This record gives sequence, C-alpha cells and structure tokens, in this order.
Amino acid sequence: MAGKHEPILVVGGGLGGAAAALALGRKGWRVRVLEQASEFGVIGYGIQLGPNVFSMFDRLGISDAVLRLAFRPKSILMLDSADGGEIARIPTGESFVRRFKRPYVVIHRVDLHGVLLDACRALPNVELVANCNVADYDQQSGKVRLRTEANATIEGAAVIAADGLRSTVRQQMLGEGEPRTIGYIAHRTIVPMSDVTFDVDRDNVVLWSGHGFHIVHYPLRNGTLFNIVTVFKTSDGAAPSDTASPHPDLAHVYRDSHPTMKALWAMMDLSRRGWVSSDRDPIRHWSVGHVTLLGDAAHPTLQTLAQGACMAIEDAVCLAEMIDQSGGDFPAAFQRYERARYLRTARVQFESRYHWDNFYHVGGLEREVARAIWSGRSEEEMFDCLAWLYDGFALPERKAA
Ligand SMILES: Cc1cc2nc3c(=O)[nH]c(=O)nc-3n(C[C@H](O)[C@H](O)[C@H](O)COP(=O)(O)OP(=O)(O)OC[C@H]3O[C@@H](n4cnc5c(N)ncnc54)[C@H](O)[C@@H]3O)c2cc1C
Repeated sequence: MAGKHEPILVVGGGLGGAAAALALGRKGWRVRVLEQASEFGVIGYGIQLGPNVFSMFDRLGISDAVLRLAFRPKSILMLDSADGGEIARIPTGESFVRRFKRPYVVIHRVDLHGVLLDACRALPNVELVANCNVADYDQQSGKVRLRTEANATIEGAAVIAADGLRSTVRQQMLGEGEPRTIGYIAHRTIVPMSDVTFDVDRDNVVLWSGHGFHIVHYPLRNGTLFNIVTVFKTSDGAAPSDTASPHPDLAHVYRDSHPTMKALWAMMDLSRRGWVSSDRDPIRHWSVGHVTLLGDAAHPTLQTLAQGACMAIEDAVCLAEMIDQSGGDFPAAFQRYERARYLRTARVQFESRYHWDNFYHVGGLEREVARAIWSGRSEEEMFDCLAWLYDGFALPERKAA
C-alpha cells in the first residue's frame, strides 16, 4: 500500500482534475497536477451547475465561494425557434430549492476554476505543474511512471487521468481512437450585457430549440455579461478540421428562425474555433492497476443535460473518498470508484443522446407533439423527471473493517 507522501499524479488540470486534486489534498494526500497548457484555468465561457454538484462543493469546502460568484436564474426555459412559444419551463426559484435542497446556478468557468485552483494552492501537499504534456504511462511493481512530450519521466503511486474527451491515457488504456461525432458544431461567445441592445430574456437560462439547431443563453457575473452558445447540424458531419473558420452551412441554418435568434447569431464571434459535439459509448471499466480515468476521459457526454463538469466533480469527490477509505490500495479503490459511478454517468450519456435527437432538435409535427406534451407538465412533474439527477449522488459507505 502506498503512503500519503508518495504523489498521486493527476493528468489534466481542467475542472475535473482540479477537483480531484483538491479532494485528495484536503484528505492529506500528496498530489501533482500535470497540465499541458501554459496556464491553469483560462478557458472562458459560462457553465450551468445543477443542485447535485453542491453537496460535492460542500465536501470540497467551496460552496460559499461558488455561490458568491454565481448567477441564479429564475427558470430554465425551452422556447420554440419558430415563434418563441414556450415548450417547457423548469422554475429554479424557491420551490426548486425546497425540492432539491440546493440551487441551480450559472457561473463563468474561469471563476469556478479559480475557486478550485485557489483552494488547491492553499494546500502545501498539492502541486500544480503547467506546460507538462503527458505522452504515455508505464506501471510496474506498484508504481506508475509518466513520460512527457518533452521526454521527462515523472513517477507516482497512482495516476488519475482527467485529460478530457481526447484523453491520451484512455487511448493507451483502451485504444478506441477518436470520439464519436454526430455532425453538430457548437460556438460559444461572451459579450458585455451593455452590448445586447435588442429585446431578450436576461433572467433565465433560455434554450431555443430548432430543427437541427439550438441556442442557449444566460447572464453571468451579476448580469454584466451575456453568454451565448449556438449549436447546429452540418451537412458534412462536422469533421474536427471544420472548426477553424465559420462553417459554410451557417448562413442557411437560422434563415427561418425567430428574430431574437437571428439577433443572437449576429453577436457571435465566429473567428473563434467551434467545438465538434462528440461523446463515446458508456463503459463499465476505466481503470487498470494504478491508473484510472475521470470526467470526460471516462464518460464523455453530449452537453444536453449540462452535466459533464458536474459529473467530473462528482467523480473527483467519490474517487478521493475511495482512495482514502482504502488507505492507498489503489486497484481496490479504483474498482469501487468505477462501480459507484458507471451507472449514473452512463445514464447521463444515454439520456443526453436521446434528448439531443428526440427533444432538442426535432422539427415540424414532432416539435408540436413535444410542445403539447411538455408544456402541459406541472412543476412537480418536471421536478420528478429530474430527481434521479438533481437529488444527487450518495457516496458509498465506508466498508466495515
Ligand atoms: C458547448 C458545451 C457546453 C457545456 N456546458 C456544460 C454545462 O453547462 N455544465 C456542465 O456541467 N458541463 C458542461 N459541458 C461539459 C464540460 O465542459 C465537460 O464535461 C468538462 O469540462 C469535463 O471536465 P474534465 O476536467 O473531465 O475535462 P476538460 O475540461 O476537457 O479538461 C481536461 C484538461 O486536461 C488537459 N490535458 C489534455 N491532455 C493532456 C495531456 N496529455 N497532458 C496534460 N494535460 C492534458 C487539458 O488541457 C485540460 O486542461 C459543456 C460542454 C460543451 C462542449
């Protein structure tokens, strides 16, 4: 068994990697986070956080800091791209907090990352290493050795790979190749609220649903910024190389949509690259010996439920608990972690796919049917649909000695 002084190596300092480092660091484990970028935590844009992630934030000691920086929308609204009519509404005010105990918030990703990284920096046993691109791993006699692109070797007691959708560690472990693409591209933009001069909802998380496209928008930082995410289906299946410049289909996509959607599109900064929407099939096992995966590296999902980062943070807290309970028996801890997490994360992956195709992006009569079904649902019924997710994740109990 490894002692707490032998470093656990975390590959990737995104939200999942930073949360894992903090969770382990708070329990006294020595952690080194290896990030390929030259700086930690600089990726912008907004992020939605469901109430389920707040019990994890409690365990990380950061709930108050997150809430200070977050914006609380009144509702999550789905609108019809043709006429702006309401398809569905989830109120996120008092009744939501009564039901799920915690709020629904949106926050600037940089702010959330900053809270996690500041908390890591306050711990002497957590080290953050930038400019460190991990190339591969090798494990022998209870130790793991990482080799970096610069040909350095870093040794640790175990590896947690939180290196995202195109995880290098996962590729070595499972050899599956590129993630599955579905022909959609997402663009994200943040603009000052003062630049938004047209009539648009500034109180809610709003999703405009169209046939093969959608737009999500919400305010950030006390309503001073406006976050817009636009997503559309391409005619060529959106190969990853398509993201460097505006896609040729763009001009056609919003031609028949509501004037507000057109005004939102006009605000997008299309000089920035887009994200090719991708995921992978769920799996049951993502650990080998002293190496495991976390977050998008383990169970990448479409962003339909806005839960990818929330799942990564739930993983992080669960994994730290399993490691600590095992006293450093990493293979046993990683197996318990997988068992605790795979069904919940697989459900997020499957439901995200299902709603992407059958709810968010349907057109014509199908959308009329969706609207008739969903707009008739009561608040209580909406909450019941979301309970499996928003009621949260219960950490496995400590095993009896
Ligand atoms: C358009 C869009 C909107 C989304 N909205 C939401 C939302 O509202 N709510 C939500 O919960 N989720 C949302 N998500 C999902 C969320 O962004 C991801 O699930 C989350 O960021 C995953 O975190 P992660 O730490 O696992 O991976 P990442 O955030 O991808 O972090 C991986 C890190 O590893 C580093 N790295 C990669 N390879 C190496 C290497 N070889 N060596 C060293 N470092 C490496 C990367 O530089 C990066 O810092 C959204 C996703 C998209 C595309």
